[in-house]
Amino acid sequence: MGAEALVGPGAKRQEMSLRDQRVCKSFLVGICPHDLFTNTKQDLGTCPKVHSDSLRAEYKREKERGRDFAEFEYEYLKDLEKYIFDCNRRIEAAQRRLDKTPDEVEKSKELMRQIEEFSESIDDSLVEIGVLGDMGLVEQALQEYHQVKIKRYDRAQRERDLRLMADTSGASGHQKLQVCDVCSAYLSRLDNDRRLADHFAGKMHLGYAQMRTLYKDLQDRVAARKAKGDRAPDRGDRRSRDRRRRRDRDYY
Ligand SMILES: [Zn+2]
Ligand SMILES: [Zn+2]
Repeated sequence: MGAEALVGPGAKRQEMSLRDQRVCKSFLVGICPHDLFTNTKQDLGTCPKVHSDSLRAEYKREKERGRDFAEFEYEYLKDLEKYIFDCNRRIEAAQRRLDKTPDEVEKSKELMRQIEEFSESIDDSLVEIGVLGDMGLVEQALQEYHQVKIKRYDRAQRERDLRLMADTSGASGHQKLQVCDVCSAYLSRLDNDRRLADHFAGKMHLGYAQMRTLYKDLQDRVAARKAKGDRAPDRGDRRSRDRRRRRDRDYY
């Protein structure tokens, strides 16, 4: 929930006005992307800006009174855009991985061979470490153990590559996979309805679906403003600056 805790309760928070740079406009206008993916692979961590329920209530009241916050919406639009464009790039990359069917059988064979080699070598080293330990050669044993750690790391890398290949390519993989065009996850065509339903109801998918809807709505609003002509961003900014000055006078 944003950095509200950092602001602390009471007096300090009241000093912060809606237009304060530290206030998260995304949280005021809609849903901050940082709140959408908590505890998922896409967890964005805590928002560096302030999420304040009381400021959001104030924003809503001001809006109901007819005050327009064009620049807030624009800031939110830009924030959403960052994450959506990023997701779109991931979708394209995932799609490219599916599209290409190189010598993947050969590649995965080679990876499996290397993994096997690493495993054997690690086993040998562990035996040797035992012997060195028995002989009291601690220094050499530690050196050997360091080598084991490196080999384990290298093996893990290849295992990961192999999993990735198995998931996304090859006769067993790529025919059956497709990329979710909302959240960039791989979906299996063989998944039953239940699993697909789980995906579409999952936090990640819903998070991106929500962002895309919010983004579309904001785009429409910005376009409508432009069409009306009375709320072009530049004029809006000037007006809001004037308003801000008035507001700040009222506040202090
Ligand atoms: Zn935020
Ligand atoms: Zn999805």
